[in-house]
Amino acid sequence: MKRIIIFSIVLILSALNTVNAKVISNEKIDKAKLDNATKIITELQNDMKNYTKNGSGPFVAAIYDNKGNLIVKVANSVVNEKCSHNHAEMNAIKAAETKLNTYDLAKYNLSLYVTAEPCMMCIGGIMWSGIKAVYYGVPSKDVENITKFDEGFKPHWFKEFKKRGIIVYGNIEPELGKQELYRYMNEGKIIYKPER
Ligand SMILES: [Zn+2]
Repeated sequence: MKRIIIFSIVLILSALNTVNAKVISNEKIDKAKLDNATKIITELQNDMKNYTKNGSGPFVAAIYDNKGNLIVKVANSVVNEKCSHNHAEMNAIKAAETKLNTYDLAKYNLSLYVTAEPCMMCIGGIMWSGIKAVYYGVPSKDVENITKFDEGFKPHWFKEFKKRGIIVYGNIEPELGKQELYRYMNEGKIIYKPER
């Protein structure tokens, strides 16, 4: 009986590890944070088509405070607003700063949730904004494979963020996010990138 119990515990632990195996983080994975991020990122992925049908790019971001209150939720608007900076993360940071009337979000202890890994520009934008944690869905390599967007070069950004006190969790529900990117491509929408 004892052996069966031990065997069952091992099986349950391996199953839990499998669930979290693909999620990567620059801190020890906290289940409560991950569960909350999974719920929010799933909602953002499910909302994607409502944004893209109105001309937005296929990336959605939201900023929440540490009590779970939504501060802002926005999409990429590079094409529809004709601005190369208007990635979802940059739009979210700008909207949060406008809403909170500040240029420094650090004192608000905010987390950014986004459907795909931040690009080179957005990593810089996040770092200078004072955002304290980043949770993302689809990794850049998959975004690039599916859409041919160029995500830039980002050496050791998990480690660099950790040094600056910024938590990162990535690869959260990536399959759902990839489906939305495939949908965008299948609809023949615009792709923009820095190579000419
Ligand atoms: Zn970006």
